[in-house]
Order: sequence, then C-alpha cells, then structure tokens
Amino acid sequence: MAKRRVAVIGAGVCGLSSIKCCLDEGLEPTCFEQSGDIGGLWRFEEFPERDRASIYKSVIINSSKEMMCFSDFPIPAEFPNFMHNSKIMEYFRMYAEHFDLLKYIHFKTTVVTVAKRLDFPITGQWDVVTETEGKQESAIFDGVMVCTGHHTNAHLPLDSFPGIEKFTGRYFHSRDYKSPQEFSGKRAIVIGIGNSGADLAVELSHTAEQVFLSTRQGAWIVKRTGEDGYPSDTAYITHYMEFLRCIVPLSLLNYLAEKKLNANFNHEIYGLQPRHRLIIPSHPTVSDGLPNRIISGKVLVKPNIREFTNTGAIFEDGTREEDIDVVVFATGYSFSFPFLEDCIKVVENQVSLYKYVFPPHLEKPTLVFIGLIQPLGSIMPIAELQGRWATRVFKGLNQLPSASNMVADITQKREEMAKRIHFRYVKSPRHTIQVDYIDYMDEVACLTGVKPSLLSLFLMDPKLALEVFFGPCTPYQYRLRGPGKWDGARKAILTQRERIIKPLKTRAVGDYTHHTLGPYLFMIVCAITLFVIIFSYSLAPSLNGYI
Ligand code: FAD
Ligand code: NAP
Repeated sequence: MAKRRVAVIGAGVCGLSSIKCCLDEGLEPTCFEQSGDIGGLWRFEEFPERDRASIYKSVIINSSKEMMCFSDFPIPAEFPNFMHNSKIMEYFRMYAEHFDLLKYIHFKTTVVTVAKRLDFPITGQWDVVTETEGKQESAIFDGVMVCTGHHTNAHLPLDSFPGIEKFTGRYFHSRDYKSPQEFSGKRAIVIGIGNSGADLAVELSHTAEQVFLSTRQGAWIVKRTGEDGYPSDTAYITHYMEFLRCIVPLSLLNYLAEKKLNANFNHEIYGLQPRHRLIIPSHPTVSDGLPNRIISGKVLVKPNIREFTNTGAIFEDGTREEDIDVVVFATGYSFSFPFLEDCIKVVENQVSLYKYVFPPHLEKPTLVFIGLIQPLGSIMPIAELQGRWATRVFKGLNQLPSASNMVADITQKREEMAKRIHFRYVKSPRHTIQVDYIDYMDEVACLTGVKPSLLSLFLMDPKLALEVFFGPCTPYQYRLRGPGKWDGARKAILTQRERIIKPLKTRAVGDYTHHTLGPYLFMIVCAITLFVIIFSYSLAPSLNGYI
C-alpha cells in the first residue's frame, strides 16, 4: 500500500520534529519552508523575512538544555545549559542531519492555501497550493501538520496608547529590535514585562542614558539558576512538585514560592509586585539581570502609559517623562493562519482545538496544529509529543473522541482557564494557549500510550523511578515505554545531572573540603562545650562541700 502523504508547513523546531514523527510512523512527509533554511525563529538574521519570526542578536533561551531537547536526542553534554540562539541552531542542525530530515524539506516554498478536497468526508485529503519563486503548484495530501509558529505577528496595540500619533521619537515592536548600539546615550521606554520586555530593558540599559520599563500589572521575576546553581526549570518542573501542587493548598504554595522569589529581591520594594499570585497560569518572566539594573538606577519601573506627549509620556500615576528618544513595544504576538481561512477561525488569539492540536469539527482528523501552545516550560518537547500523537491518529492507530466530546473538553479547559485568569488584574491575550507543562505532557502522553507508570517503575527499577519522580521531568521520560520507545531513554535520564554539570567543569577545583568541614567542626566544638557546661552544673550539687 502506498504510504500516506503528509504536508508539514514550516521547518522551525516544530516542523523538524513533525517530519521525524512522520518518518517514525512510516508516513511520507513533505515539508514546505518559505525561507531558505531550517530553524524558524531561532535562526537570527539582521533582516529576516517579514513573515518569519525574528529575534534579537543576544537571545539566550530560558529553557535549560535537558528540559528543551528532543526526547531521543540529548543535547551534547558540553553544550551550556542555557544556550545562545547560535548554539540552539547548532543543535537543530545536528538533529536534522542525524535523522536525515533535510531531504524532505522544500525551501523557499510558501504554502498559499490548504483546502479540503471535495471528497474530504470520505478521504480526509487536502489540496495544498504552494508557491516557489512566483510559480504555483498544487498537490494532494492525506494529512497536514501546521508548524508555522505563533511568535510572528507583532501585537502592536497602538489604540491603547492615546497620543502616540504625535510622539516625535521613534517607536517600534520588539520583533524589530536587533542590538543595542544605536540606542547608546538615548532615553528609552520599554512597554511590557514579558521575557522580551525584561531582556530588552536590561540590554538597553547598558548603553542607553536611561531606560523606563512600563508595566500595567507587574510580574514575578524568576532566575535561570535555582538551588546550588542548577537550572531552575529542572527544580520546579518535576513530578514531585506536581504532586505537592495537588496536595498542598494553593494559598500555602503561593506563599512559599513568593517568599522564595522575594528572597532574591523584594518585588514590592522594586515596584514589580503584580496583583496576581505567582502560581496561576501566567507566563513567568525569566531575568537574571533586571533586579541589578533596577538597583543601579539604569532601569526605572513605571506603571502603564496613560498618554504620549510630543516628546515623552504621562504614566497612569500622573508622573511624566520627557525627552524620550525611543519606545519599544514589547507587547507580545498574535497568530493567524492565512492559508487556512475556511477551516479555522482565530478570534482574539483563541482557536478551538482539541488538546490544542485537532480542530474538533472536521469529518476526518487529518489536520493538526503543532506547537500552538504557551507552556510553563519548554515548547519543543511538547511539540514533539503532539507530533507523535498526531501521526498515530493519522494512521488510525489512535482514535479521537466524538466531535461533541472534543468540544466539551475544549469548553471545560476554557472555563478552567477563565477561572484562573480571573485572579489577574487585566485579561490578556498572552494566556489563551497557556498550559501547565507536566499536566499537559502527561495528558498527551496518555493519549499516545507513552506515559511512564511510576508505580511499576518503583517496583521494577527503583533507581530510575526516584529520578523520574524527584528529578527534572525531562522529555526522555516519554520514551521509556509504548510506541516510539527509545532504548537510550533510561541511560539519558540517569545521566542527565552529569550533562548539566559537564559544561561548568571548565576549571579543576581542588579538594578544599576543609572549607566545608569548618562549620561542622565549629558546631561539634560548641556541642561538646555545651555538654561539659550542663554536665558540670548537674554535678555541682554533689560536689558541694568538696570545693
Ligand atoms: P517558528 O520557529 O516560528 O518556525 C515557523 C516556520 O514556519 C518558519 O521557519 C517560517 O518561515 C515557516 N512558515 C510560516 N508560514 C509558512 C508558510 N505559509 N509556508 C511555508 N513556511 C511557513 N520557547 C521555549 O520553549 N523556550 C524559550 O526559551 C523560548 N524563547 C523564545 C524567545 C523569543 C524571543 C521568542 C519570540 C520565542 C521564544 N520561544 C521559546 C518560543 C518559540 O516560539 C519556540 O521556541 C519555537 O521556536 C517555536 O517553533 P515553531 O517551529 O513553532 O515556529
Ligand atoms: P508576552 O510574553 O506576550 O508579553 C507581552 C507583554 O506586553 C506583557 O507584559 C503584557 O502585559 C504587555 N502588554 C500587552 N499588551 C499590552 C497593552 N495593550 N498595554 C500594556 N502592556 C501590554 O511577549 P514577549 O515578552 O515578546 O514573549 C513572547 C514569547 O517569547 C514568550 O513565549 C516568551 O517566553 C518568549 N521569549 C523568550 C525569551 C528568552 O528565552 N530569553 C526572550 C523573549 C521572549 P500583560 O501581562 O498585562 O498582558
């Protein structure tokens, strides 16, 4: 029987893993990539194509390497834990080469339309029209995987900023920011305190005369490193933490977690305290540098802007800053699928998808969206697992529930999200596709038949079980069993801490154990002294008369 043909749209990280998933399931992928290379957003260029996502030169990822890697292809031990975008590209190229993915990609080929064929209710087939150097071609596919990303369309909410039309300085969206040199000596306002806003405020503050960071509701700031300097995501994305979340009251968890973050710096004193609690589905802002730039006065935190003047801005607290040269709108992104207009509607950055993957109303489940998700964790392993599930559904090896059950699931998820977002001060389009990492991974893993069983692991392989439960929830866990099982998964899990430490071992450190023994010796001496004192006092009455 001829292999079923699948069109993969986009050769970013989600496109690459989708090609591999097709191959693993014996499907025939054809990937269309409008630019000339792989990597999508992670391929930095000074002047990227208008319709490709774009990053600034200095971007360092905020997911650590063990948490962001593909589940059957660990990132080399010597690579840093938080990689610069160039290093990430190096890893993606290694992946593409190792699994021989490049030959399935048609570069400089844009997908223009994807439409159901007339016999779709029976065949589930699609007509895909592509354009290469002005020439259009059409082909039939049995499945379509949309991997076009959701950080391409700049969200530039100028309507919310009265007076912007008379502002004579320069303003632009963070997607158009590349490097800080041209802002040397300038006075800048950065609007928004997502990861882009925080990164840009910090970077600009090294060369600009003054940076104002304007935020309408503040943010909790998380560091890349946690206890003992380990990547913080490896500490908080664990099954153990997930278990605690289930049994400990949320208010207590929030209290403890906020206390911990405030121990780094007090969010209230630094003007960053948000109205919402920490543990709700809000996207955390990861920044190691922001508190330092605030305490050195190079970044001044301001509330939302009420209106712009000719040369500056008036903030909601009535304060005013003039002589502003530049305003960066780090106000996030929206998404759309122009080639799919008839099948799918995006309303206010929301789209109805079963488990954020399948449109529920299609007669045949042959269209999927991969990576259209905003996790509290890394997107890459999620996209890969979605791809594994989707390709099995394409093949008929996994079934979807009825359309009405899928819609009910979508509605329930929306209601849950609305309830949790209720805790926030302002409704935000950022959180329409937000998920908790482990919850979501486990859910999709269950549907795919690859969720690790902790109970049987504890019985069969306690050493591994302990690392799976208490250690970071790394993607390898979803290769321990079921379809796509990888023999290297156990070893990858048991050696993950070695790979975390390896790149830090760049200077041999002697055995300075006396440094660490010092406090213990001190405590032992104190304890002995205390014991002698108490002992002498207790003997004192009986010694009465002898001394
Ligand atoms: P993209 O990387 O955007 O790739 C989409 C590809 O599709 C592109 O190559 C594009 O050219 C192609 N394409 C689009 N339309 C068409 C068409 N019609 N025809 C043909 N080809 C098309 N995520 C994390 O997990 N961790 C992080 O630390 C992190 N940091 C980030 C930092 C920044 C500054 C930004 C903006 C995002 C960050 N993200 C992070 C999220 C990021 O979106 C994902 O990491 C990931 O790159 C998404 O990959 P993708 O393949 O879905 O999309
Ligand atoms: P984002 O997370 O959507 O943040 C947008 C910010 O703009 C939020 O603070 C939001 O405030 C604010 N905002 C939006 N509309 C506004 C309005 N009308 N008025 C005032 N403020 C407004 O966007 P992002 O920071 O560009 O991040 C996009 C993605 O890239 C995220 O996944 C992020 O993790 C990733 N990223 C990663 C890195 C890194 O790895 N180093 C760097 C940059 C970005 P509200 O919260 O109030 O809505």
